Amino acid sequence: MTQKDDILIIGGGIIGITCAYELSQRGARVTVIDKGEIGFGCSYGNAGWVTPCFAMPLPMPGMLLKSIGWLMDPESPLYIQPSLNPDLFKWLLRFLRSMNKSLMEQSIHSLVEISKYSLEAYSQLNDKFPNQFNYEKNGLLMVSQTEAGLAAAENERRLVETHGVPGSLLNEDEVHKLEPAIVGSVKGGVYFPKEAHLEPLSATRTIAEAAIKNGVQILSNTEVYDFVTDGNKIVEVHTTRGPMRADKIVLATGSWSPGLAKKLKLNIPVLGGKGYSLIVKPLKKQPKIPLMLVERKIAVTPRSNSLRLAGTLELVSPTDYSITSNRVNAILRGSKLFLDMPENPEVLELWRGLRPCTPDGVPVVGFSPRFKNLFISAGHQMLGMQSAPGSAKLAGDLILNEKPIFDPYPFRAERF
Ligand SMILES: Cc1cc2nc3c(=O)[nH]c(=O)nc-3n(C[C@H](O)[C@H](O)[C@H](O)COP(=O)(O)OP(=O)(O)OC[C@H]3O[C@@H](n4cnc5c(N)ncnc54)[C@H](O)[C@@H]3O)c2cc1C
Repeated sequence: MTQKDDILIIGGGIIGITCAYELSQRGARVTVIDKGEIGFGCSYGNAGWVTPCFAMPLPMPGMLLKSIGWLMDPESPLYIQPSLNPDLFKWLLRFLRSMNKSLMEQSIHSLVEISKYSLEAYSQLNDKFPNQFNYEKNGLLMVSQTEAGLAAAENERRLVETHGVPGSLLNEDEVHKLEPAIVGSVKGGVYFPKEAHLEPLSATRTIAEAAIKNGVQILSNTEVYDFVTDGNKIVEVHTTRGPMRADKIVLATGSWSPGLAKKLKLNIPVLGGKGYSLIVKPLKKQPKIPLMLVERKIAVTPRSNSLRLAGTLELVSPTDYSITSNRVNAILRGSKLFLDMPENPEVLELWRGLRPCTPDGVPVVGFSPRFKNLFISAGHQMLGMQSAPGSAKLAGDLILNEKPIFDPYPFRAERF
């Protein structure tokens, strides 16, 4: 690399922070700015799964028919809010066009690759900073109460197996033996033994601290509101703490990216995939393994002294942070079908976040076609936590003009 590249990263979620760490490990001079506190965007309350088995793009073939059915059901796991917003319309058209098998195969390959890299990277970070972010490698169990759900889980297992993610099909007895916290009758499950989970805010903070030790400057409560450009270059970034300049600028603002991109007359088609996460008191029969309750699409993550239940994906405008009680209650009701929970579980924390969803299900990680010093790293949909170190590696390679270890083509910015 050229000595001491000066890089300004906008956005201190897991994507911006891992990017800062990666670049600083390689000698770059980096500043991260965030409009709030580091790690309090979508990276705050997610399920914390680092699961290459779930490296699926959102627009999977067959999703269309399912989502039409789900639209009728106010408690369904996926909901598309009807709206006359032209951005939503354009996004949906591109989403539909992306539901084809060859694109899906290419996307899964790319997403599994960066997720597998990330799984290893988190494991190394955990060795370096032990007991900082509750990293555990207990695998992931998909559990199903219906034949159709089990067939769908097995289908996913076969799909990711071809990309080197091992998993096995379990019958009902094997499911109960592996995870005694599951109650009632189930049809079976699929177990992926190599997957991991972690505490998302702690992971983001641990990596931020490591980056600071490398010399990264982190400025919280510093909001970008405009840019000054000259031809194909951004020459100044206007922030609430004054103007800033840098050789290269990285936009890592998750679901806020479309708004900032518009200031630059750029199109980053990201919708908010709203999801909820509830932290409840530990159960008498507390699960040890993260669980995907297949029919309800609920992610259950054991924590040291509580349990996280996360779910729903409601496609909304990136500014809609409203809370819909029906959808929150559906998570509790769905969890009770699989776990021994009290009638009225005590919810210690309710959180909602907007997953930054691109219409083709692949993040944008690449230089802007319009501004030669603008790099975009946004749109990591349901996979931002689990793909962050791999995404940062790709970003680092491209920003520092080195040969990328992953194929950058599926992630390129100019596809939109
Ligand atoms: C319920 C739920 C469960 C999930 N579970 C998982 C999971 O198990 N595993 C997984 O991999 N992913 C999961 N995800 C997805 C994951 O949380 C996201 O993909 C990831 O957090 C995106 O990270 P990010 O850094 O791009 O965005 P963010 O974390 O949102 O960071 C963007 C940052 O940009 C800052 N910002 C925005 N605008 C400006 C501005 N103008 N100026 C300065 N700063 C600005 C914000 O303050 C914010 O901190 C889940 C998401 C949800 C909602």
